[in-house]
Amino acid sequence: NTFAEIDLGDALNQNIWRCKYVKPTPVQRYAIPISLAGRDLMACAQTGSGKTAAFCFPIISGIMRGQYVQRPRGARIVYPLALILSPTRELSCQIHNEAKKFSYQTGVKVVVAYGGAPINQQLRELERGVDILVATPGRLVDLLERARVSLQMIRYLALDEADRMLDMGFEPQIRKIVEQMDMPPPGARQTMLFSATFPKEIQRLASDFLSNYIFLAV
Ligand code: AMP
Repeated sequence: NTFAEIDLGDALNQNIWRCKYVKPTPVQRYAIPISLAGRDLMACAQTGSGKTAAFCFPIISGIMRGQYVQRPRGARIVYPLALILSPTRELSCQIHNEAKKFSYQTGVKVVVAYGGAPINQQLRELERGVDILVATPGRLVDLLERARVSLQMIRYLALDEADRMLDMGFEPQIRKIVEQMDMPPPGARQTMLFSATFPKEIQRLASDFLSNYIFLAV
């Protein structure tokens, strides 16, 4: 019933303690063990529910402990291991700031890329290395088309505020993005979809992108 009882790895547990998180919120209490067990997840979560930590903790923990094949180095193209998609620049920056606090001294590098800002600084930041990429869909498609980011090594995908992304018309971009990351063997990618509402379009995304998933409504 406290984060101290959940073994996420020493460095991450310490950061959680530094952030003064003691007790998991309801969405965290259920989502974190499900994700740590390797299952895909569709979760009902409103703003303020603690959903950012719910998807960041399993991702950071998994990357800290993961034995991943060597990623290509030196080229101008980068290979993140995790992708967090969110609808807006504001939300992406917020996730990036939290994820940076959670990943302090874990060796896990988080980079953010969003539209409406010059791409060059984001490219330079990416070139310095990235494990977790937080991005808005439009800017990520741009980076993929420029061949500066590859999604071939993505092990974790989190879609935050999926209903809002669809309301904003991002479905074609999201589909284009996910198409680029289907890697064998099946199940090698773990996907988490967070949404406040569950219209047909969201259920269709879930059945297309998630495999054998658990639906969590708290
Ligand atoms: P979110 O819903 O992810 O935007 O989080 C809402 C706010 O709750 C943020 O300011 C978080 O830092 C804070 N928060 C999230 N989880 C916890 C927790 N388990 N204990 C205390 N604060 C938390």
